[in-house]
Amino acid sequence: AGFQNDRIAMKRYITSKETHEVVDAALKRPSQRSSEKIIAICNPIIEAIKTRGDAALLELTHKFDKATSLTSPVLRAPFPESLMQLAPATIEAIDISFENIRKFHAAQQDKPLVVETMPGVVCSRFSRPIERVGLYVPGGTAVLPSTALMLGVPAMVAGCKKIVIASPPRPDGSVTPEIVYAAHKVGAESIVLAGGAQAVAALAYGTESVSKVDKILGPGNQFVTAAKMIVSNDTNAGVSIDMPAGPSEVLVVADAFANPAFVASDLLSQAEHGVDSQVILIAVGLSESQLFAIEDELHNQANALPRVDIVRGAIEHSITLVVDTINEAMELSNNYAPEHLILQVENAEKVVDLVQNAGSVFIGQWTPESVGDYSAGVNHSLPTFGYAKQYSGVNLGSYIKHITSSNLTKEGLRNVGGAVMELARVEELEAHRRAVSLRLGVA
Ligand code: NAD
Repeated sequence: AGFQNDRIAMKRYITSKETHEVVDAALKRPSQRSSEKIIAICNPIIEAIKTRGDAALLELTHKFDKATSLTSPVLRAPFPESLMQLAPATIEAIDISFENIRKFHAAQQDKPLVVETMPGVVCSRFSRPIERVGLYVPGGTAVLPSTALMLGVPAMVAGCKKIVIASPPRPDGSVTPEIVYAAHKVGAESIVLAGGAQAVAALAYGTESVSKVDKILGPGNQFVTAAKMIVSNDTNAGVSIDMPAGPSEVLVVADAFANPAFVASDLLSQAEHGVDSQVILIAVGLSESQLFAIEDELHNQANALPRVDIVRGAIEHSITLVVDTINEAMELSNNYAPEHLILQVENAEKVVDLVQNAGSVFIGQWTPESVGDYSAGVNHSLPTFGYAKQYSGVNLGSYIKHITSSNLTKEGLRNVGGAVMELARVEELEAHRRAVSLRLGVA
């Protein structure tokens, strides 16, 4: 019995034997901690930064990150070599990832549009980078140079003039050398040594030493997320954010062609993120013994992981859905709108046509999610919690805005003027009508 209790296993549902309601309920994400409580904690922190700037920022960093020796909250470029001492293998890994992410995001640059909608009426659209961006790189216990790259490289490619990275310092007051090196590579102007709501507020409003930014991007815990929502709702801050964020998640679709060990390893690489992560397996037409093979792999591989306790927590609210057809699998997946979607099925490339909602798709058995998390070139900052239905992941466009222009000749104004004057008349905006009639010398 002890073995059964200890077994790390996802709850299994056979969809043909359940009602829609049961399947929908099984696919519900674990609910978030009361956001009102979190907002009530963040509001006074944000207020303290607005009114007392650097002094409050340092106090909060001393309190929350235990970095009591820290005397200045900002590290400015050029960053000293001594702060980015890394093993050659780490430098090489960062350099390879940097270059792949750069290539893929540089290819996303769009060309200016010029369209003559009527003779003499020319409409254009061109892009400009957002001038100042703040990139939040979570700290806590983890070292996340990959997030610094995923947020920083597209900012660099877009041509943002000022890139500010914020990340909570370690208790000794330092930043991990991996993050300093990534900040150096993307051309960041500074690193703000702070985390949580105080870091977000400092980026949104600026302090004596922190540069105010126009947009804040990046993942973080619930304090970071709540603070991003609060400052983006403050019209006086004049700051926008990338997207709402929740715990990380993966959905794996596997059929009889899938390798059970590969499937289990993909589920676990998501489960080890945090106890609030969710992993879902949709098994298409698998026999009992095939399902058991995956479950066995999951249990055995999980027990060999250093983060087995986190995995156990995540697996507790994770499920397997057994379905009959790939169409049914994709319908369920599109409804769930996973942050990461892994297709370990026959002809996986063809199945991509059936994907309607997902943050990023990993195609075929040789494409673990890990490659996209770090080095393939795609971005890993993706919409969670079902937001893949309406949001894209971070991409070059996240750092760019489009400006339109119109340019008319006199002939052009003659061609379009009648429509303008009539609509202005209908809307009873006489000055609008006259701006045309006066130029054309008509009544
Ligand atoms: P974090 O940097 O998000 O948060 C640390 C900060 O939280 C601290 O500096 C502190 O200011 C604040 N904080 C902590 N407890 C507080 C309290 N009681 N009151 C007020 N403020 C408090 O680091 P973290 O906490 O380790 O969280 C990392 C998050 O990032 C996780 O939620 C994880 O899922 C997410 N993450 C996302 C990605 C991604 O790229 N999608 C990657 C890794 C981690």
